[in-house]
Amino acid sequence: MDPTPHDAPKPPGYTRFVCISDTHSRTDMVHMPYGDILIHAGDFSELGLPSEVKKFNDWLGSLQYEYKIVIAGNHELTFDPEFMADLIQQDFYYLPSMTKLRPESYANVQSLLTNCIYLQDSEVTVRGFRIYGSPWQPWHYGWGFNLPRGQALLEKWNLIPEGTDILVTHGPPLGFLDWVPKKLQRVGCVELLNTVQRRIRPKLHVFGHIHEGYGIMTDGTTTFVNSSVCTVNFQPINPPIVIDIPTPCRT
Ligand code: 5GP
Ligand code: MN
Ligand code: MN
Repeated sequence: MDPTPHDAPKPPGYTRFVCISDTHSRTDMVHMPYGDILIHAGDFSELGLPSEVKKFNDWLGSLQYEYKIVIAGNHELTFDPEFMADLIQQDFYYLPSMTKLRPESYANVQSLLTNCIYLQDSEVTVRGFRIYGSPWQPWHYGWGFNLPRGQALLEKWNLIPEGTDILVTHGPPLGFLDWVPKKLQRVGCVELLNTVQRRIRPKLHVFGHIHEGYGIMTDGTTTFVNSSVCTVNFQPINPPIVIDIPTPCRT
């Protein structure tokens, strides 16, 4: 599918979604187009350091969208209490870069996000759209919100309510914008694919995580958007993806 050009006029009765993810504290050069609802599908930081979260929140505050929806990704380590508990047990030496994380620095890190609606296995209704967000993804080197493939992930996807219009997850479903060229592998979650195609059938599914998969696809029911702004080399050069969807009638 082709993305909507950023300067295309919005059809009457539509809501314009601006989708991004994987900005990894590199938002300075990102040109943000006009729209009604901003969606960020996780990995807005490198480690979830409070300084990064504050900077991201300030940037969100400078943007003109009616609603800004944000979820965490595997890089927002401080948003995952179980990850942080493990890290403390291992005396912060799990990965060398993680020694920057100190217990006093992450308490209530979520409360630093004052300029958006933060979703974590939760939903919000805006402009008549039911939007659900979840940060979990298949295990990959033990970062935040990692879970084993299969039952553990399925239990998270089973929390997604039927009637969800817009699904936001950090990782892709199997087979949609999930190709990792250097591994010659599709790494999306098959349980997420089944949940999206057989149970939820949302209008839009926004994710990121696999930077190489940036783009848009459809299965005829759901539009799939991998909105990774950063490339695999962490260059923030992929433009935000714009999608217009008819605004549901509000009762
Ligand atoms: P990030 O560290 O930002 O979550 O992911 C960056 C890159 O790591 C992705 O673009 C992809 O190349 C690689 N990656 C992330 N998760 C996986 C995974 O589950 N399997 C494989 N093979 N690569 C992954
Ligand atoms: Mn990323
Ligand atoms: Mn990621």
